[in-house]
Amino acid sequence: MDLYEYQGKQYFARFGIPVSPGGIADTVEQAVAEAEKAGYPVVVKAQVQVGGRGKAGGVKLATNEAEVREHAGNILGLDIKGHVVHRLWIEHASDIAKEYYASFTLDRGAKQYLGMVSAQGGVEIETVAEENPEALARIYIDPAIGFTEAQARQLVEDAGLDAEARDGAIGILLNLYRAYVEGDADLVEINPLILTPDGRVHALDAKVTLDDNASFRHPEWDDFRDIDEFDERERLARSKGLQYVGLDGYVGVIANGAGLAMSTCDVVNQVGGSPANFLDIGGGANAEVMANALEVITSDTNVRSILINIFGGITRGEEVANGIKAALGRIDISIPMVIRLDGTNAEEGREILATVTSDKVLSLPTMLDAARKAVELANAKN
Ligand code: GDP
Ligand code: MN
Repeated sequence: MDLYEYQGKQYFARFGIPVSPGGIADTVEQAVAEAEKAGYPVVVKAQVQVGGRGKAGGVKLATNEAEVREHAGNILGLDIKGHVVHRLWIEHASDIAKEYYASFTLDRGAKQYLGMVSAQGGVEIETVAEENPEALARIYIDPAIGFTEAQARQLVEDAGLDAEARDGAIGILLNLYRAYVEGDADLVEINPLILTPDGRVHALDAKVTLDDNASFRHPEWDDFRDIDEFDERERLARSKGLQYVGLDGYVGVIANGAGLAMSTCDVVNQVGGSPANFLDIGGGANAEVMANALEVITSDTNVRSILINIFGGITRGEEVANGIKAALGRIDISIPMVIRLDGTNAEEGREILATVTSDKVLSLPTMLDAARKAVELANAKN
């Protein structure tokens, strides 16, 4: 899960990393109110999950109410690299003496954590890394040993941070590492990390990616979930713990395994149809999961037929078939459904399915035939 800047700053604050006081605003009026609270001058910042907002006109300084109105009005609704701005972050503006860069991430190739610091922050760090790689000081960190103060000191010295910034930067790096490891993040990045003219070091931007695989041990992350980002179907699917992505088509797709679910969407396209969604029900296909999946699929009013594509692996065909059968008994489905069941004990499974097939529920042995049939039924319904 990627956090917005304002969420990233809330996250950093929990780990003792200094950020500027501010608040969020979804309207010009709210922006004015937040600017009053933060105290002028303020920065009006677009909240979109894409870098380079500054260059795109999404970060503006305002010294009075009229300027806040002007900038907030311009930035709300702005399209930044395909992301439309619906929310602003208004914070008290900082005086900047120097802009640095700091991050921790996982270097998959090296199988170690990678800490990076540069005295040339603010600009696009990719450009620094490409054109002037020695300006980006790096350290590999063994997760079993951790990140020490001595290493932090080495890093800021290697990066050539100004002497008066070093102690502050070291403190922030140690906390940033904690935010990375204890917080179960995949990436924590501060760009720019600034030195103020009066010698304080401070995070002006925040980029945080949390590791979704760790969300079970972070109930507090629920605050970060941007419910507005999901459509109604995705919200329902999420509440049922299903891996679902809404698409624009009309054939509801249920498959087990992400690869098979993607292939199923491809095959629906291949035979001239259009999938309404991607839905991976995972390894088990019991009645509960199947009923939930069908409920989510049928909540989508665009869906005109359903294609269930299950390949029995560890989950045997008859278990899957019994799951489908029980789910059909639980919810009333008026949309035609085509089931393709293959893999372990497919024959046994199909025999069970034969007891529930009707003109609404068909069972076909191959993926291609099943997809064709599902598309044909959807078109017939049109
Ligand atoms: P990004 O372009 O999406 O990375 O957005 P940032 O939050 O990093 O802001 C871009 C640039 O705006 C920074 O590199 C700063 O130069 C400038 N900026 C942001 N906040 C302030 C501030 O409080 N005061 C000043 N003077 N400049 C700021
Ligand atoms: Mn930035």
